[in-house]
Amino acid sequence: MKKISQLNFNNSYARLPDAFFSRVKPTPFNNTHLVSVNKMVADLLEIDIHEFARHETLAMFSGHSQLPGMQPIAQCYAGHQFGGYVPRLGDGRAILLGEIQTDNYGKWDLQVKGSGLTPYSRDGDGRAVLRSTIREYLCSEAMHGPGIPTSRALCIIGSDEEVYRERIETGAMLLRAAPSHVRFGTFEYFYYKNQFDEIQTLTDYVIDENFDWLKNSNNKYITLLDEVITRTAKLIAQWQAIGFSHGVMNTDNMSILGITIDYGPFGFMEAYDPGYICNHSDHHGRYAFNQQPDIGLFNLSCFAQAILPVLGIKPEENAEIAKQSLRQYGALFTRYYADQMRTKLGLDSMHSDDPMLTRNLLDLMHQDKVDYTIFFRQLCRFSTQNDSLNQPLRNLFIQREAFDNWAAQYKLRLQQEQSNDQTRNAQMKKINPKYILRNYMAEKAIRMAEEKHDYSEIDLLLELLQSPFSEQPEHEVYAGFPPEWAQHISVSCSS
Ligand code: AMP
Ligand code: MG
Repeated sequence: MKKISQLNFNNSYARLPDAFFSRVKPTPFNNTHLVSVNKMVADLLEIDIHEFARHETLAMFSGHSQLPGMQPIAQCYAGHQFGGYVPRLGDGRAILLGEIQTDNYGKWDLQVKGSGLTPYSRDGDGRAVLRSTIREYLCSEAMHGPGIPTSRALCIIGSDEEVYRERIETGAMLLRAAPSHVRFGTFEYFYYKNQFDEIQTLTDYVIDENFDWLKNSNNKYITLLDEVITRTAKLIAQWQAIGFSHGVMNTDNMSILGITIDYGPFGFMEAYDPGYICNHSDHHGRYAFNQQPDIGLFNLSCFAQAILPVLGIKPEENAEIAKQSLRQYGALFTRYYADQMRTKLGLDSMHSDDPMLTRNLLDLMHQDKVDYTIFFRQLCRFSTQNDSLNQPLRNLFIQREAFDNWAAQYKLRLQQEQSNDQTRNAQMKKINPKYILRNYMAEKAIRMAEEKHDYSEIDLLLELLQSPFSEQPEHEVYAGFPPEWAQHISVSCSS
């Protein structure tokens, strides 16, 4: 583990032409303190955790000073936001400090979010509030815990600076890490300005830095497109299977690596509702839970369009090549999602009736507003031998007879493949999390932090969510239904 002064910083993105970014330093806060540090990510970046107890470390990460090799920049990008094209976005409140080259875990962009104005801030103040940094900090780890690709969160730096939102809040900074922060919108930025040389440069850069095994392949650009399509299909299948809604699936929030980025008004589904809208500013439900797979295709089409100029040898063939690649998305998504659901149900083999079995279950859960996570965790204990053991599961439903019918089908299916209750139980507990980040959990941590400067709940939830499959009986309360007071928490984009 290294001292901060020993970190090996580089910034390959800052060596791209000027059109790709603006050099800008973070605007530091006056009084900073550590809100929380994530040991798992500190380890990943090979930073000695004790360094975070030092004032100099916080001062450095929040912009008072720079380490050798750091070249702070704000990346520029564009994006389709709620369906409409916005030609100039960019890091309005985030700054890429540089890349940490680790000895064992590759290279990681280190980005500070909430670091002040940049040329892309538009009407914003460049700041982030403590509330939103806590949500992103916890959620990135709540996604990583069950194995969903995501940016990671290193630490939250608090301040006493006032930030104006719907009310006065306090500012904070989040340090986050990802192997790249390039977005679909980064390609669109150049495409719609007809800067095709820059698209070539960007595509080659992305391949060199993050997809280097494609370097020597014959048609590396088409393979890159296929790879992005595959990863995105897989990612969204994982979101759907765990019940996660991103909330703002604009193309500027879609990672070229197929990882979850830019956490805003996200939500984990509680009572199963396919039309669930987690973002209260999303009046038409464009990013409703059940729209995510289709929006994935829309976003990929935007990306494919932007990468067209570099795709083929004969320009007139490019559109057809891209279409062919995009056509794979539907089947890929369906296969990944079916795999996820089959594993959640504890089924080993594939059967043509399985999609129907899943659909019947989800329809019933929707009608009866059954808690998605609690149901699947309970289902791990399903007994094919003794129906009375399935009573707690049955009690989750209002329409008990309808559930009995489904359970009979399910039991038959399990018996067909001679499923062993004990073995299946153990396997299912590795895909059906006991703990997810429910809105009320984040809200509790936020209130304690805002009102009492008590950050203990953040640390507790972080640890809990990093092991979402393990029993952790001392925290059983978080595996249950949300409390009554949590019914009316609302989350919007303003963070
Ligand atoms: P988002 O959808 O939250 O990822 O943000 C969309 C765009 O708005 C991005 O370019 C952000 O950098 C920018 N943005 C969001 N909040 C602020 C803020 N408080 N100050 C400046 N820019 C912001
Ligand atoms: Mg964003």
